[in-house]
Parts: sequence; C-alpha cells; structure tokens
Amino acid sequence: MDPLTFKIEPGSTIDLREYDPRYNPGIEREQAETGLAQLALEIDELQELLFGAARHSLLVIMQGMDTSGKDGTVRKVFSQISPLGSYVHGFGVPTPEELSHDFLWRVHKVAPAKGKIGIFNRSHYEDVLVVRVHNLVPPEVWGERYAMINNFEHLLAANNTIILKFFLHISKEEQEERLLKREEETEKAWKLSSGDWRERTYWDEYMAAYEDVLTKCSTSHAPWHLVPADRKWYRNYAVAHVVADTLRGYRDQWMEKLRVMGAEAKADLAAFRQEKGG
Ligand code: AMP
Ligand code: MG
Repeated sequence: MDPLTFKIEPGSTIDLREYDPRYNPGIEREQAETGLAQLALEIDELQELLFGAARHSLLVIMQGMDTSGKDGTVRKVFSQISPLGSYVHGFGVPTPEELSHDFLWRVHKVAPAKGKIGIFNRSHYEDVLVVRVHNLVPPEVWGERYAMINNFEHLLAANNTIILKFFLHISKEEQEERLLKREEETEKAWKLSSGDWRERTYWDEYMAAYEDVLTKCSTSHAPWHLVPADRKWYRNYAVAHVVADTLRGYRDQWMEKLRVMGAEAKADLAAFRQEKGG
C-alpha cells in the first residue's frame, strides 16, 4: 500500500504548495473507518506492552493551523488506550513564569517517562511558529531554536523516547468552512475565537514558518509526518497507521522483556514459598 502520510526525509526542502491537503492514494471512507477502529484497538494492546516493559516512552506531537483537527485526531486515534499511562498536554500562551525560563523548560518537564505515552497538543514548535510570525522575539533568537530543538529531541530519543511529529495540513478554504461551521453549530460555538480569524490573515507567514520547521527539524530520530487533513476520516486513519506501524516495530522486544519479568516474578515467588515451607 502507498504510504498515507508524507514522512519528511531529513535534508529535503519543503514547499507546502506541492502537498495536496486532499491527497488520497485510493482509500475509501468506509475502509478508513473500519481500519481506524482496528488500529485503535491495536494501539491499545501495544500501549499495554509499552507500559509493562517500561523501556521506552512515546511522544506524539500534534501541530497544525486552527481547526486542523489536533484535538479530534487525538480523540479518535487514542480512543481505546488506558488513561493510566497516557496523557495529553496542551501548550498555550506561556505564563510569566514560563517566559522567565528558556523556551524548552516547560516542555522538558512534561516529556513522557519510560512506559508512558505523552501527547502534545502544540509544542515547543510554537516557539518558531507563532513567535516568529508575530515577532515575539528577534530573528536572531528564534533562528537559533531549530538546532536547539533538534538537540533537545536527540536527547529525548537517546533516552528511549520514540518521537512522532504530525503536521495536519489543511487548505485555507477548508479552514474557512470549518470556522463558519463553528458559528452555525450551537454546540461548537464555544470554540469560536476572533483570534482564529485574526491568525488566518497571517496564513502565508505561517506556511513559510511551517516549511522551515519541516525542512530543518525532520530527523531520523524524530521525523515529521505531513498529514493530508482536509478530510477528517482520512486524517485519523493516516495518523493511526503511523502510530501503530511505529509501535509494532517494538512489539517483540517488549514481549521478550515481559517474558523475562514474568519468569523472574515466578522464580521469586517460588523462592518465597520454599523459604516459608522449609
Ligand atoms: P489553543 O490551541 O486553541 O488552545 O490555543 C493556544 C494558543 O497559545 C495558540 O494561539 C498558540 O499560538 C498560543 N501559543 C502556544 N505556544 C505559544 C508560545 N510559545 N508563544 C506564544 N503563544 C503560544
Ligand atoms: Mg484555537
């Protein structure tokens, strides 16, 4: 099967106009929905192994423009996993305390421990996206951050963090439709924000900033996946696919560790019984 997402090769230069937000290598909606349900169950099974073996952690980073579906994707892809051992962390405007530290301080604190799945809704990438678009710090400052981010992610990866980064790629037209729909639907209106319409006027600046992120920060240990995201069912299936595929690659070594742990626990119990009996 053709890949559903575009995994950005380290060293390639990204022009977002070359990626169609409606790209689809021939997946039908029904097939995607059935597939998603199966993958969500498999991700749950794999999460239990990850938790038990406690050898790796998984860090999932979700980025994308407003309405691109960062929340919705997480809800669908991780719908089956146990809340024990996983969490979602949203990154908003930094607090005064956060701003008084380096930009990675608030991020490192919430990176997942071994056995855990940590999901970031926005992330340290905002420090080279919104911060760059709105000149919140000078170019000399944000310009150095790409290398800092790569080094930071390298540190996490060297400590057995499996890192997956998803850029949900929607078109400007699709965003307009989704924003207008929020106004129409009473139960979605709470999500309305004039800020979303204001940010939209910086669309081209954001695309340029995202192009730099994808070009400079896709590495072998922390690759970016560009996800065609104008269709929600396609987007969810595509992300679930990458997550399940990635975790599946660790299945055998986690099972092996659990077997060893099981044997040790039994031997310990046997020794205890013998001691008690003897
Ligand atoms: P939301 O994801 O809708 O809850 O909005 C979070 C807001 O926080 C977005 O407008 C982000 O651009 C903003 N934000 C996140 N990180 C930063 C940052 N490092 N500096 C400035 N604004 C940020
Ligand atoms: Mg928002």
